[in-house]
Amino acid sequence: MTQDATRPDPDGISWRDLPIRDDLRGLSPYGAPQLDVPVLLNTNENPYPPSAELVADVAAAASSAAAGANRYPDRDAVELRKDLAQFLNEHSLGHHGLLGANLWAANGSNEIIQQILQCFGGAGRTALGFEPSYSMHRLIALATGTAWAAEPRDPETFELDPDYAVAKIRQHRPDVVFLTSPNNPTGTAAPLELVEAVVHAAPGMVVIDEAYAEFFRPGTPSALTLLPGRPRLIVTRTMSKAFALAGARIGYLAADPAVIDALLLVRLPYHLSVFTQAVARTALAHTAELLGTVDAVKAQRDRIVAELGALGLHVVPSDANFVSFGDFQDPHAVWQALLDQGVLIREGLLPHKLRVTAGTVEETTAFLDAFTRILQDGGAPLRAKGARA
Ligand code: PMP
Repeated sequence: MTQDATRPDPDGISWRDLPIRDDLRGLSPYGAPQLDVPVLLNTNENPYPPSAELVADVAAAASSAAAGANRYPDRDAVELRKDLAQFLNEHSLGHHGLLGANLWAANGSNEIIQQILQCFGGAGRTALGFEPSYSMHRLIALATGTAWAAEPRDPETFELDPDYAVAKIRQHRPDVVFLTSPNNPTGTAAPLELVEAVVHAAPGMVVIDEAYAEFFRPGTPSALTLLPGRPRLIVTRTMSKAFALAGARIGYLAADPAVIDALLLVRLPYHLSVFTQAVARTALAHTAELLGTVDAVKAQRDRIVAELGALGLHVVPSDANFVSFGDFQDPHAVWQALLDQGVLIREGLLPHKLRVTAGTVEETTAFLDAFTRILQDGGAPLRAKGARA
């Protein structure tokens, strides 16, 4: 363990010495580094901070929530869920006709995933994911005592053939299936035929993690359109990415109301504070402003794809606000060289590749300029074409 100034006794015992559950021993905590550098393009946040007007409205909402903070918050976040339903109906392609009863909210979509696994996974049950994908699906599965089954995506395109996915579901008979669309870290979207085939074949619940759905390229549909008549389908979303509110911790799902009734069995009472609910509702009243940055971010995403491609790199086509690219002999050296120039991106997610989040025009330029310098100085040798991991 690295030395940590917040620990009173750096030489004290390790967590490994404590009587933790045996099945947690092989795990490592989620570890995207949080470093203080000028250009942060590593955790797929929206680079645009809220406007002064929204900040003022959030402060006013938090202050009126504080006046009643001696009482517990609305346990079922009824008004927030209505606002979220209205938001999805108005701002996600297709007329979904969702009601508050179809929505559920929690402290980030990570907590949503945790509640789903507490309810539909757990001891003696299995969740299946198609990797590489968002590593927290696996970690939350294991933390909730759910066995994790992983099957690989196509190693070149990272796409998933519906027949292949169905065959893997028949093989594992999982209680929960995860599909991430657009997938993190590859940016690959799941076509509706794939989602339909997976829901049809799966014996249990199917979770489509659409954390980055607002960044879909034109014509890429959301699995929200498939919800009617499919009570085992859950679509998860978040306000952390396009909605530029990662710090407020608000995630949500849309599903049949019966799914939400089931989740009430495992959620902690009053899990969403008065402040979280007030901030989320205030932000939703500013939807136009917050989502107004999405096109700018998508333009930088497309710029990264085009410019890295022109430099001769393999670039994975992306429907999200990030791009994975390679094929480096030593991706860590490239990551470090970028960091040395004040640009933090993400390593260690795909073999021989790095992932960069689309930032503002200036941040994206800083990344592309720094990377081009490294490439020109011979600091980013590529693997020979056709080389295998
Ligand atoms: N799903 C995916 C695919 C993600 O990439 C992330 C965040 N990196 C999350 C869920 C969780 O986001 P949050 O808890 O902030 O909603």
